[in-house]
Amino acid sequence: MGFKIFLDGEFVDKENAKISIFDHGLLYGDGIFEGIRAYGRKVFRLDAHLDRLYAGLKAIRLELYMSQEELKANILKTLKMNDLYDAYIRVVVTRGVGDLGLDPRKCPKPTVFIIADKIALYPEEFYTIGLPIVIAKTRRNHPASMPPEVKSLNYLNSILGKMDAIDAGTDEAIMLTTDGYVAECTGDNIFIVKGGNFSTPPHEIGSLDGITQNAVIELAAKAGIETSRDMLKPDELFTADECFLTGTAAEVIPVISIDGKMISDGVPGKITTAMIAAFSELAKTDGVEY
Ligand code: PMP
Repeated sequence: MGFKIFLDGEFVDKENAKISIFDHGLLYGDGIFEGIRAYGRKVFRLDAHLDRLYAGLKAIRLELYMSQEELKANILKTLKMNDLYDAYIRVVVTRGVGDLGLDPRKCPKPTVFIIADKIALYPEEFYTIGLPIVIAKTRRNHPASMPPEVKSLNYLNSILGKMDAIDAGTDEAIMLTTDGYVAECTGDNIFIVKGGNFSTPPHEIGSLDGITQNAVIELAAKAGIETSRDMLKPDELFTADECFLTGTAAEVIPVISIDGKMISDGVPGKITTAMIAAFSELAKTDGVEY
């Protein structure tokens, strides 16, 4: 059985999963996406991902002909069909085919596709030795220009930040707001550990409301660790006891240096390591079965 993609209501082979060059998702990045993960035939926090996707659609006034429940059923069907035990799922909704102008009213039907595949974002060793990161030259989109809770198909802001990371010889970079506060990384949220508690930036200043971030905050609360939402300047990162990133693809990953300055003596911190274990346990047990 070949690799099947869900595309506009049908399951097609990977080679035949094609969309029009007039699709506004391609022409303008006009659309919303989600990255979701499944562990041991269970989809992690599927409803939270779908809530975020539909909230994003509402924010860009894209009315999808498929209900949230129908899309959920199609995601589960795609996973079953590809017989995946662990998986990374990409759900994409675009404005659909239109003309060469921006006008979304000229796109009568959205395009929807679901890819279920595998992903390994960072080399495995970074989970044990930790990740060196830098502060990107590129600043995060201003929330007044681009609502941070919208996971839009236009990811150039993050891609420019990623290129800053690559130029510095690293895999990830912290993106600051236009006025110099820590927002998040190019594809992950950021936490610091100070005095045994967690601190992570507020979303309003320009970071995604991360599903992994929220899961970690819940795990922390259960372990008696409080999380505060703080406006952090880069200097406060350098004096943190520990630092880690969260994301669907990255999961929980320790940071051991920022701009070459060591954090937690250049090794993953104890609390971070415990969080990695707790998250891995949660991911195995908490999810929608298929
Ligand atoms: N920030 C950005 C910019 C992202 O793209 C992502 C998802 N890759 C995250 C944070 C992490 O969010 P989540 O835990 O929901 O995947």
